[in-house]
Amino acid sequence: MSDSIRAAVMTGPRRPLEHRQLSSPRPEPGGAVLETVASEVCGTDVHLHHGHLAGVPYPIIPGHVNVGRVLETNGPARDVEGRTIEPGRLVTFYDVFGVCGSCWHCLVAKAGTRCPHRRVYGITTSADEGLLGGWAERIEIKPGVRLLPLPDGLSAEDFMGGGCGAPTGFHAVERAGIALGDTVVVQGSGPVGLSALAFASLAGALRVLVIGAPAARLEAARRLGAEDTLDVAAARPEERVAWVLDRTAGRGADVVIEASGNPAAVAEGLEMVRDAGRYVVVGQYTDAGDVSLNPHRHLNRKHVTLSGCWGYEFTHLHRSVQMMARFKSRFPWRRLITREYRLADAAEALRDMERLAVVKALIRP
Ligand SMILES: [Zn+2]
Ligand SMILES: [Zn+2]
Repeated sequence: MSDSIRAAVMTGPRRPLEHRQLSSPRPEPGGAVLETVASEVCGTDVHLHHGHLAGVPYPIIPGHVNVGRVLETNGPARDVEGRTIEPGRLVTFYDVFGVCGSCWHCLVAKAGTRCPHRRVYGITTSADEGLLGGWAERIEIKPGVRLLPLPDGLSAEDFMGGGCGAPTGFHAVERAGIALGDTVVVQGSGPVGLSALAFASLAGALRVLVIGAPAARLEAARRLGAEDTLDVAAARPEERVAWVLDRTAGRGADVVIEASGNPAAVAEGLEMVRDAGRYVVVGQYTDAGDVSLNPHRHLNRKHVTLSGCWGYEFTHLHRSVQMMARFKSRFPWRRLITREYRLADAAEALRDMERLAVVKALIRP
């Protein structure tokens, strides 16, 4: 086993990526080491590079959602069914650790994604603490981090085509409480929006309409079963609202899911949802500014249910992976991978994601 591991390190906002040689980790008791098979570049990595997230302990090794092959464990690793995970097995893992299970948020509010002790691989972990991100040849699995074997028939590419967007979109769909026959609008056509589209269909939506950009992402939306798509850049805000009303007998959609990252989309989305409909905001992962709402018109009189959706829990990762395996021919997530990049080209991958030249950028360490 080689002792030297290559990693791409983000040293700070707007600073060039550094390529470092780090020593190969040995698993702690109850932990494991993975050989990285695939990592990704997502919108969050672009935000990290812009310095838009508070409390990030630069230098970091980005790459929160990953697939790897188990190289070594220290003590038996088991899945949630109690089955042993042997070396050589292809796995992903829940990228969150440190959720304490004993604080007010965990126990009283039952809101694990808001536990103040929650930490995330590739985002709130420093490169000085070890190989805790996927832009590296190996990944250290801390004790307590849950490994999730990919089901038979689900390849690394099938899963990574959705990547972190899949469990995030799954969680948003769960929050939306979609009923059989609902009409759903998704604002945003990145991996979160596209995954929300697929899972909304599986949840029983009659039809899903997607508003986003650029053309390649809208084409992907149609491939995943969107009934209709609208290029956000080709229409003014009131035209986008009219586009939805035209398709819903003037009433608006039963459910609107915001996955765009643009604060203005929230005021606009509230115009697109019907009276007594549901609106889920999942795309505002960073603070991109304020918008003004009309509380009478948008909320109170509309009798709307408005939900935020922060991160995801193990249940969403587990269930989304099983669903991706079961429905992969209907929803070809792997086709969302526009391009693969070697670790040495991570900066280029980051740039391509920044200018939305790719739907999903895969990193192949
Ligand atoms: Zn807690
Ligand atoms: Zn992500």
